[in-house]
Amino acid sequence: MKTDVQIAQEAKMLPISQVAEKLGINEDNLIHYGKYKAKVSLNLMEELKDREDGKLVLVTAISPTPAGEGKTTTNIGLSMGLNKIGKTAITAIREPSLGPSFGIKGGAAGGGYAQVVPMEDINLHFTGDFHAITTAHNLISALLDNHIHQGNQLGIDPRRIVWKRVLDMNDRALRNIVVGLGGKPNGVPREDGFDITVASEIMAIFCLAKDLEDLKKRVGDIIVAYKFDGSPVFARDLKAEGAVALIMKDAMSPNLVQTLENTPAIIHGGPFANIAHGCNSLIATQMSLKLAEYTITEAGFGADLGAEKFFDIKARFGGLKPDATVIVATVRALKHHGGATKEELGTENLDQLAKGFENLEKHIENVNKFGVPAVVAINRFPTDTEAELDYVLNRCKELGAEAVLSEIWAKGGDGGIEMAEAVVKVCETKESNFKPIYDVEDSIKTKIEKIAKEIYGADGVDFTKKCQKEIANIEKLGFDKMPICMAKTQYSFSDDPTLLGRPSNFRITVRDIRLSKGAGFLVALTGDIMTMPGLPKVPAANNIDILPSGEIIGLF
Ligand code: ADP
Ligand code: MG
Repeated sequence: MKTDVQIAQEAKMLPISQVAEKLGINEDNLIHYGKYKAKVSLNLMEELKDREDGKLVLVTAISPTPAGEGKTTTNIGLSMGLNKIGKTAITAIREPSLGPSFGIKGGAAGGGYAQVVPMEDINLHFTGDFHAITTAHNLISALLDNHIHQGNQLGIDPRRIVWKRVLDMNDRALRNIVVGLGGKPNGVPREDGFDITVASEIMAIFCLAKDLEDLKKRVGDIIVAYKFDGSPVFARDLKAEGAVALIMKDAMSPNLVQTLENTPAIIHGGPFANIAHGCNSLIATQMSLKLAEYTITEAGFGADLGAEKFFDIKARFGGLKPDATVIVATVRALKHHGGATKEELGTENLDQLAKGFENLEKHIENVNKFGVPAVVAINRFPTDTEAELDYVLNRCKELGAEAVLSEIWAKGGDGGIEMAEAVVKVCETKESNFKPIYDVEDSIKTKIEKIAKEIYGADGVDFTKKCQKEIANIEKLGFDKMPICMAKTQYSFSDDPTLLGRPSNFRITVRDIRLSKGAGFLVALTGDIMTMPGLPKVPAANNIDILPSGEIIGLF
């Protein structure tokens, strides 16, 4: 069997101008990055502003398991399937982070015969967007430390600096550091730390900003520290937002590449799915809606986190109207939710499957609560049996959900025709009555309780003392009327990663609330959330190489 990178390297790519041409994008609006990558100028949006939007389809999934679900792969495969049945479709996905590429997860450019190419570029430096974000972020850090060094006119409390530095690398040694060592000429010593670039608030802002002016405003709104008197210090107080906007100027234009079948893909932005909202940029989604009949976009983690944030944060901010949701499920993952061990995943077991199906059932119910019709896509793995596949299909039908088998990983677009037809049918016949699950004007506690009860199925929410104090502080500052970004384990509906399937009789504990004032949301933390991952014992980097022939190995 061929590896992902082998399949990708055998792809016959079209020059990117030709891919752009299929969408009616002319040469004037392309900023080339070599032969197979281009940024699409934002001027195009001005030209297309009166054009009607195409259909918007969100790809999400059941609660993730180590068995893998395949959201990105399905997203890409669905767009290829739609192309096969004569629809123009764009896959709009996130840019992979370099850190995980060298860690465990590998790349994030799809898999098998549903990939975007050139995958090695997409998984590595691509068009430099993450570099721009890293630089913009660290400029604010440099301005802040310099401000303190130069006399600290603002009265910044060095013990209450909430703006860390960032790097696009999994490097646990940088989680907690001390900066400013070496005596007076080298700054004021203080504790600091690094997050991974995708966890930067600049990344979240980049993905929610309407344009460069909006980005500038939001960057100015970032709270970087607190003063000795307890009041917030904004990035605007450091006069950072102009330079940041300039650094981000080129990055703001979405990146155009292609799938293995030469259909267009727009890959732009990639915020963390826990402390941020986990979707590609709003600009990319809006551009795609103007260019294609169908835009297939993704949200990280399972639907309790990814889809909820897509609906409650991104769609709310961007005025998006999702037409359908594809929930990706696999037989293996459902069996995992039903108690199967790793060794049992490849063996037929309808009892485990029936038990684990409850997880999918709850996700279907949830998507319906947002008023968006759902299509379940069963991402077929080589070990699945006919009886297992039939079981899932039938159970979905009993629930009134459209359900189809997807074989895009093994067969590319041909394996996605049935899924594409189901999505078209749903978009054309079922009306979407999209509405967010809470009102931003609700209190912080009410908003979190609504998410926990409605989406997670919790009995209620407990707020720690620390958290209650923080909520009071945020209310005092008048920043409480923002959407909530839940930071919770992706593995369970609850805040306990070991409670699989569809847990009941549980409560959620919120430990802390963080203000992402620039991004425009409040982050509710339910557990220990890692914002700087580490590398595993045997990092993927150990197996990555480029051979004298130019062949790349080990990237997946
Ligand atoms: P997600 O976006 O949900 O994190 P990906 O689409 O990135 O998942 O897929 C995770 C991994 O699983 C990838 O390495 C991909 O190649 C693999 N994968 C996805 N679908 C299948 C399938 N049907 N059969 C085998 N492997 C698959
Ligand atoms: Mg993915």
